[in-house]
Amino acid sequence: MRKRRWKIDGQTKVFAVFGQSVRHSLSPTIHNASFEDLGVNCVFIGLSSSQYRLETAIKGMAELGIKGAAIIIPYKVEVMKYCTEIDLMARQIGAVNTIEFREDHSIIGHNTDAEASARAILEVRPMEGSHILLLGAGGAARAIAFQTGIERVKSLTIANRTLDKAVELCEQISDTFDHQIKTKPIALSIVELKHALRQTDIVINTTSVGMDSKDTLLTSNMLRPDMTVLDIVYTPYQTKLLQEAEKVGAKTIPGANMLIYQAIEQERIWLKGVKPSFKVMKNALMEELEGGRR
Ligand code: NAP
Repeated sequence: MRKRRWKIDGQTKVFAVFGQSVRHSLSPTIHNASFEDLGVNCVFIGLSSSQYRLETAIKGMAELGIKGAAIIIPYKVEVMKYCTEIDLMARQIGAVNTIEFREDHSIIGHNTDAEASARAILEVRPMEGSHILLLGAGGAARAIAFQTGIERVKSLTIANRTLDKAVELCEQISDTFDHQIKTKPIALSIVELKHALRQTDIVINTTSVGMDSKDTLLTSNMLRPDMTVLDIVYTPYQTKLLQEAEKVGAKTIPGANMLIYQAIEQERIWLKGVKPSFKVMKNALMEELEGGRR
């Protein structure tokens, strides 16, 4: 267990991860390690509430002087109703994963998932002009799909269990980016996936398949060495999909990297002017995972 070297007092600024179930969130681990490294008088805790008391919970956080919150499943969409302002990117995505409670009592909604996905990929390869296969069409997929538009990818194929959601997301991306990206919704079937993979450079799994399990939607025989695979699922650290990708020599990006980049962006929003360290957060996360607590 990491030991805090700094004290908590009456002036400590409180931040929280907020959702229905936050007990297993890695956000307190990475943010507290970063706060300690930055030398700021801040602490990061877990808070939860039932869906029926969401408004009371948000207003309560504001009233109690909580400075910021990381919003997780299942409140990323509903929480938008209680923000006094939502930045453009979060509005386009239709989901907020970060809330900033300001001194003037305004509650600002942001989305840091989108940019974080690109930062994780751009460390490994360029995105412009590439062909993307996005698995899933849920909240995280929406953020990442919009970011692929910003990164000027050539084509975006979205495969989802519920096909209607993939169709809708493809239409939104085409409209937002003026049909400059070729989008295609497909069913989550082996035949359709194999076909789509023929022209794929980057695979991004945003489904919860593989989370705390050994399941995978793609196996090594469907992948190639010239591909890059990002699995945004981060428990386990090395998902089955990433193991399959490694078997064929594809480049792999763990979801933990995206988690850290979105946390870095959150601290920049909340604390203005700070430069959080990726390395500090990554070490804390690995220590937590290797400690067998996940
Ligand atoms: P969500 O909105 O609930 O979306 C879940 C997606 O997974 C949907 O597309 C859903 O398909 C699909 N899915 C669920 N079970 C499936 C199954 N058995 N077979 C096929 N598809 C299935 O959740 P989310 O917020 O997007 O989060 C998804 C995952 O990403 C979670 O594991 C979360 O922890 C992770 N995440 C990671 C980061 C990071 O920074 N690394 C950030 C955000 C989220 P349907 O539409 O058909 O239901």
